[in-house]
Amino acid sequence: MQNTLKRLLAFAFVLLSLQPALAQQQALQTPEQFLGYTLGKEFTTHARITDYVSYLAQQAPNRIRVQEYGKTYEGRPLLLAYVASDENLPRLEQIRENNLRQAGIANGQVQGKQPAILWMSYNIHGNESVSSEAVLQVLYDLVDPNNQQTKKWLENTVVILDPCVNPDGRERYVQWYKQTQNRGGNASPYAWEHYEPWPGGRPNHYYFDLNRDWAWQTQIESKQRMAQYNQWLPQVHADFHEMGPESPYYFSPAAKPLHESITPWQRDFQYTIGDYNRKYFDQNNWLYFTRENFDLFYPSYGDTWPTFNGAIGMTYEQGGSGRAGLAYKKQDGDTLTLTDRIAHHHIASLATLQATAEKADQLTQEFRKYYDNNLKKPAGDYKTFVFRADDRSAGNLKALTDYLDQQQIQYGYAGKSSSSKGFNYATGKEESVRVNQNDLVVSMYQPKSTLVKVLFEPNSNLEDSLTYDITSWAMPYAFGLQAYALKNHLEPGSQKPAKTATAIKVERPFAYLARWNSLQDVKFLTELMAQKVKVRMSEKPFEMENRQYEAGTLIITRTGNEGMGDKLDAVVRTTAEKHGVPLQASTTGFVSSGADFGSGSVRFLKMPKVAVMSGEGVSPYAFGEIWHYFEQQIGYPVTVLGTGYFGNVPLHEFDVLILPAGSYGRVLNEQALEQVKNWVRGGGKLIAMESAAGFLAGKKDFNLQKKAGDETVEKEKAKETKEDPYKLLRAYGDRERDAISDDVQGSVFRVNLDKTHPLAFGYGDTYYALVRTSDTFSFMKEGWNVGVLKKDNYATGFVGAKAKERLKDALILGTQPMGRGQVVYLADNPLFRGFWHNGKLLFGNAVFLVGQ
Ligand SMILES: [Zn+2]
Repeated sequence: MQNTLKRLLAFAFVLLSLQPALAQQQALQTPEQFLGYTLGKEFTTHARITDYVSYLAQQAPNRIRVQEYGKTYEGRPLLLAYVASDENLPRLEQIRENNLRQAGIANGQVQGKQPAILWMSYNIHGNESVSSEAVLQVLYDLVDPNNQQTKKWLENTVVILDPCVNPDGRERYVQWYKQTQNRGGNASPYAWEHYEPWPGGRPNHYYFDLNRDWAWQTQIESKQRMAQYNQWLPQVHADFHEMGPESPYYFSPAAKPLHESITPWQRDFQYTIGDYNRKYFDQNNWLYFTRENFDLFYPSYGDTWPTFNGAIGMTYEQGGSGRAGLAYKKQDGDTLTLTDRIAHHHIASLATLQATAEKADQLTQEFRKYYDNNLKKPAGDYKTFVFRADDRSAGNLKALTDYLDQQQIQYGYAGKSSSSKGFNYATGKEESVRVNQNDLVVSMYQPKSTLVKVLFEPNSNLEDSLTYDITSWAMPYAFGLQAYALKNHLEPGSQKPAKTATAIKVERPFAYLARWNSLQDVKFLTELMAQKVKVRMSEKPFEMENRQYEAGTLIITRTGNEGMGDKLDAVVRTTAEKHGVPLQASTTGFVSSGADFGSGSVRFLKMPKVAVMSGEGVSPYAFGEIWHYFEQQIGYPVTVLGTGYFGNVPLHEFDVLILPAGSYGRVLNEQALEQVKNWVRGGGKLIAMESAAGFLAGKKDFNLQKKAGDETVEKEKAKETKEDPYKLLRAYGDRERDAISDDVQGSVFRVNLDKTHPLAFGYGDTYYALVRTSDTFSFMKEGWNVGVLKKDNYATGFVGAKAKERLKDALILGTQPMGRGQVVYLADNPLFRGFWHNGKLLFGNAVFLVGQ
């Protein structure tokens, strides 16, 4: 009996002790339980973030689904987590289709009850690292079966979370921090762990700012993410960031300027969401600000781009970023901890979900209305955009249609010629316009017409000039196309252009000819070079067989390519086809006017060995744009040289050295600069961009000179204040506004080109530049002033009065011979953010044509 009792008791004990163990195994692990530390005590690596998200998906398949939507440049997985109610998760696909039906993008009727869709993105700036910590807690709360609150909100909301938009950047920061930090973190603002080294964790692998890339989608992360986004088109999008550690917290409503295309409903809802956030922040006595700093104008942010796609788009900013580490002592004596930062983003995420859930019906209704208006009553004066299709525009048009496809913007081609009235982007005037058959036509009567308006319209109305980004981006200029905005509605006649290209009839021609007009042609050239095909280029325009060819035309003769044997024709033809380059064939080397193919002005193009400067002192963005250009856009080998050991590099190993924007005082000291000059004299080509050109200006042997200050403006002012001394009494409160008269924040200018110079080949008389600086140069007395701004070259965008003055009669693009070599000055950066398509040929000219 005793024994039995003992045994029973023992059994009961086992049961009792087993039960919590079993329960624990089944219960969903919190981030703390899973990771082995409390969130905020350490930074979580991207691999562990991924692990936890996958764990949740395994444990709660009725509540969360995880999709790997791509990989970063460095091979890290990109994830989306879809969280929905037990009822909605199995019908996710139907909900997605319904949503596109509501937008008029998919056919058919909405089936079943349609929830609102909320998309939240975290950590797009890699070193704004709190976001990917906070999302782990948010995910847990959404998936936790005992959380009645989130369960209720999920009844009518589907939540899509991107736990880390920029894993490569985040990992650059987190790994550095872990290697550098004092145990547990050191709050002293002077500790090393608060001073990230070059280039910092903010950008992605190629040092692109992904939060300037939403609209342009030049980076692999953006491309893959936006393909998913366009499948969903959420009603609400929240983008989680950080700002400097001394600032508290920012949430909507946004600051002015708001783009005029933002609807009253979208403006109002910014306040609604603000109210939800405010409530929680007030309850906790947390400081915040609204309606300052973060405006809604430039279309390529995580708040504006979703807004122009029908969502309520918002930025959230926590104080911290790469400066704050695990703990940071602020000027007011308080210590900001990672734990605090997590708490704020966590609450803001949930408040956003609550706002979406409680207003779900209204959100979906307004979303339908938005897209209905887009389709039937598109806003703005212009109802059709037309892009000229001709011999020269094939490459740029291809780039544009690829871009439109990415954006889900519909387009077609004019079926027949017609006459209209409209705005001519080239002249900046309203005039009569001839639309030709096969011109590309984009009608505003389509679901994405707001986006079309924002991206294409010649002028974006700026309600307030205090914005912290570029103010112009009109796509017709960016793509270098002859374009017109028409006030009348013109539907495209067909989805495909009528066939005009004629196949090459000559089997073994004397030479192949390819025009030089776009980045496609640069790709064609460099790929031929890589295949050891010898390519020549005509420095002069010529005419043959009744066709006109401009300077820069590529000529591939059989002579010189004997080594290729019979393969030559196949290689040239397939490479041309691959890049969409129209080829001509000639049976002779004789031209009816211009220089014959054997002439000295038909230059052989050597395949240059290219080096680019990088490292401390160089602008990571400016360098990254060049790096990305070579590796990802044209696929051409480039050697990256570090500023740290530049003095030891034998420059004769390279033909071209590119200096991106940066400060070169240290690396190019007198001795190093002498070495560079000697290398140029021996035949090297130095390409100095933006502030690198500024660094060389005025230095011995360099002919570039900075433009003398603001004399005209100052004279004007002196005269004014003499007449009326009260003009000197400026208000302190206006100081920011006064300062912007010095600014040009990314505006479009017509650059007058010397089209006979190889740097300008492919453009004709004009290049549209996105000018972002008023530090300009005078015309050179010796050397070639290839691209200049004359008196009235402003096209569109905001330019302060003083800046406008300095941008008159200024040199933008120039070259000077030095010994047997060349120096190329690009005062403007044609590769800015990788989206100014029209600049990519210009950069190709600098690298591959100039000095050959
Ligand atoms: Zn940010």
